[in-house]
Amino acid sequence: MKLLLLSTPVGALGTGLGGGVELTLLNVAQEMIRRGHSLKIVAPQGSVLGEIPIVEIAGELQTTAQSQGRSTPIVMPENSVLGNMCDYARQVQADYDLIFNIAYDWLPFYLTPFFECAIAHFISMGSLSDAMDQIAGKVAVEFPGTIGVYTRTQAETFPFAQQCRILGGGLDLSLYDFVKEPSPALAWLGRIAPEKGLEDAVAAANITGIPLKILGKMQDEAYWQQICQEYPDAPVEYVGFFPTAQMQQELGKCRALLMTPRWVEAFGNVVIEALACGVPVISYSRGGPTEIIQDGKTGFLVEPDRVEGLVEAIGRLDQIDRLACRQQAEAEYSLEALGDRFLNWFQDIIEESMNC
Ligand code: UDP
Repeated sequence: MKLLLLSTPVGALGTGLGGGVELTLLNVAQEMIRRGHSLKIVAPQGSVLGEIPIVEIAGELQTTAQSQGRSTPIVMPENSVLGNMCDYARQVQADYDLIFNIAYDWLPFYLTPFFECAIAHFISMGSLSDAMDQIAGKVAVEFPGTIGVYTRTQAETFPFAQQCRILGGGLDLSLYDFVKEPSPALAWLGRIAPEKGLEDAVAAANITGIPLKILGKMQDEAYWQQICQEYPDAPVEYVGFFPTAQMQQELGKCRALLMTPRWVEAFGNVVIEALACGVPVISYSRGGPTEIIQDGKTGFLVEPDRVEGLVEAIGRLDQIDRLACRQQAEAEYSLEALGDRFLNWFQDIIEESMNC
């Protein structure tokens, strides 16, 4: 199979601006190559993704959908990188069996009927924009089976939930070390941006006095400064944004991961990364984490937006066996399992497009 992957247009791969979808793209690409398929990734200039061949495209980045309102019109900057990426895909489409689009943006959906080559669209976030919902819904009807998502709860944020293929996530588990004896510190992991609700994890650290290590892309500096001002004495440390190898080392040493999403988290790659290290996850019961965490066994699901719930769950961490966390990651989130699900989906789309 020859695949052309269209990356996120909000940032170069490797910068962390794309969030968890960068890791999903890497894992799917690596697994497809391991299985003997060939592929190229089309991505903004400056992108790096392991050893995977990348066609770098120049142009202005798109604004992230989560920082705009539901009814904001579609905005395309002058010399749009997304427009340029789609144009490149149009020119080379005859060389490929399938285009795999992970850009959470209007244009690739709109252009779907203009392409000869079949397109698989992977939607990496819940519903955020009326215009996106409308165009993706149209594709869901006109090209059945071509829309993939991470989880059922994510799909349910869209009017076309029933048409979505649930694909979950997965990891190269050999890159994550199991740590049996952690330090007392807790971890918080992710893009530092309002939809991630970091302030609640900091509030929990403030109440319990347990140190909190914060790792992730500093996406919204003003938001971070506001948290620091609100909790000047909280025992928290912003450690930085690290490549997977270092990140998992820091994460593995922690007693638990706190997940505090304000939005419907589509999946939460960080949840399965924590489990892979043997780190239980305490999360608000909202979105993807509700489909991953086994409440009371590999973490705790608590009432959303209630810091007291986080604090109470931290007090119950002794009940969790860290080995059970690693075992869940191995049983449900291996790279092989991820590869099987995506490959079956790709094959179904190609088959369907040949019948048309
Ligand atoms: N991450 C990383 N280094 C860090 C902190 C986070 O590479 O120091 C990555 C992490 O591996 C994960 C992503 O950031 O893949 C966050 O993804 P998630 O799915 O949790 O949320 P999203 O950003 O997509 O909303």
